Amino acid sequence: MSWLGQRLHVPGGMAETIGEGPRVKFRADYGGAAEPWACAAELAAAMRELEAHGCCPVLDDGLSAGNAAVRRGRHLLTTPSGRRPGAADPRDLVEVTAFDLDAWAVTYRARTPALRPTSDTPLHWAVLLDPGAAEPGHASPRVSLHGHVLQTRAAAEALGIPSSEEETLFSTPEDRAAMVHSLRAHPYPRHRAWIRAGHGFVVAGEELAETLAYTLALATRARALGFLPAMP
Ligand SMILES: [Zn+2]
Repeated sequence: MSWLGQRLHVPGGMAETIGEGPRVKFRADYGGAAEPWACAAELAAAMRELEAHGCCPVLDDGLSAGNAAVRRGRHLLTTPSGRRPGAADPRDLVEVTAFDLDAWAVTYRARTPALRPTSDTPLHWAVLLDPGAAEPGHASPRVSLHGHVLQTRAAAEALGIPSSEEETLFSTPEDRAAMVHSLRAHPYPRHRAWIRAGHGFVVAGEELAETLAYTLALATRARALGFLPAMP
């Protein structure tokens, strides 16, 4: 069964199904308790704001589709898989310490092994750690915010931001490859927002507050252009 064929069209136009199988499509190996991150409370608060502004629609498994990551060195603090962003608890955030792209396997730390990194860890890893994501001589971004809205080339064109050509399923190597391709063609910081066709938007930045403000401004423009439903 094709995941991409599973998308629903509902009033408001933004819901989709997740299809069959787990959200997280990489191996996730638990490595103990996470280190403290000073930004944890702010990251959880940012997720509540994204959900409140309609950037993270609820899928057919009852959970909303939006997540985020903050980079410190080569580690990422991410939201946990399978939680509602609006209910994000700073204690439940997950630290990704390594991503073996060949093995498609992540190593992570969290309060308990049951907390796993977001299924979109491959997307955030590309934005925050791919060597071609930033223009030559510029540091990689530190913050990546993402939601499963604004997932069409028409929305990208109207907003003046790049979109990938191919539609890909989240959490897969193909999805990461398409994100990397977009980043290298339209690197940070000249570009700060990208649309993954059939998937959603990504916004990158240096600081959480400013990246959140940029994202909410993008959502406001999209709403005015008819690419987002009225505020929930
Ligand atoms: Zn996603």
